[in-house]
Parts: sequence; structure tokens; C-alpha cells
Amino acid sequence: MIENAQRQACGNCGKGDFAVYITRSAIKAYTKYIVECLNCKSTTIIQPMPAKLEAVFGEGSEGILCTLSTIE
Ligand SMILES: [Zn+2]
Repeated sequence: MIENAQRQACGNCGKGDFAVYITRSAIKAYTKYIVECLNCKSTTIIQPMPAKLEAVFGEGSEGILCTLSTIE
């Protein structure tokens, strides 16, 4: 028993025995975990989502951040 954690079950058959696989990725942070139900073979893919950074125009702004040219 692990404290502060809930045991998971298969959403298809309701059983709770699984095999866990990981995919190989050049970027370790993007490793996917694939959990396979040992009873019905349903799979769940658990993967990290990369952070998203968005730059948009501020209110009333006519310009937005850009890279300055070095050509004079
Ligand atoms: Zn199952």
C-alpha cells in the first residue's frame, strides 16, 4: 500500500494487473509510459506535454518582440 495514492484499475475490464513499458526517445523528458492491462490488453499512454510559451500583442500595441537586424 502506498500512502496518499489511489490504486488504479483498467477502465475496460476493471482488473488491476498491468505491465508498464517505456518508449525510447532522444529527449528523455519525452519518454512515454505505456501501461497494458494484463487481462484485456487495453493500453493507456502516459506522456509529458511540453510547456507552451506564447507571445502575443499587448492591448493597444502596434509592435511585438522581434529580433533586431545587425545590418546597418
Ligand atoms: Zn483490462
